[in-house]
Amino acid sequence: MKFSKPEILRNSEIIAELKRAWLDSEPNVSGGHEEGGFVVADDFGVLSVERWEKGMQNEIVLPPHRNCFVNGKAIVVSFHTHPNTGADFQQEPSLTDIRAVRDDFDLKGEFYLGEFVISRENIYLIEPAGVFSIIGKTSKILGR
Ligand SMILES: [Zn+2]
Repeated sequence: MKFSKPEILRNSEIIAELKRAWLDSEPNVSGGHEEGGFVVADDFGVLSVERWEKGMQNEIVLPPHRNCFVNGKAIVVSFHTHPNTGADFQQEPSLTDIRAVRDDFDLKGEFYLGEFVISRENIYLIEPAGVFSIIGKTSKILGR
């Protein structure tokens, strides 16, 4: 069992969950709050999403995820939103975001690909080693 980024981005149920998280975070100039979750795989390789508790304007706390597992399922991707589009807000992954992925021993599982950061314009991927890149346009990946 091994997962790839394209495989996740082709999974319509996962995309629907990412889109739901984005809309739940109430994207706006400054009134939004972060939402996030884990994309997890069960023993059969079936992917699903475990959402986190609602976050703050520019912060969100991950639930426990010991050894890169949650509720007995392997974490493949973590994700959170950057819903505020105002000039005061950074759209791309922050240094805190990067360190949170890079320095978390429980986000180094065999199947873990990294963290998606969903902003209005782009979806980014922070890889476990702490490098980030744009994986695509949000409107293209999530649809309108
Ligand atoms: Zn962030």
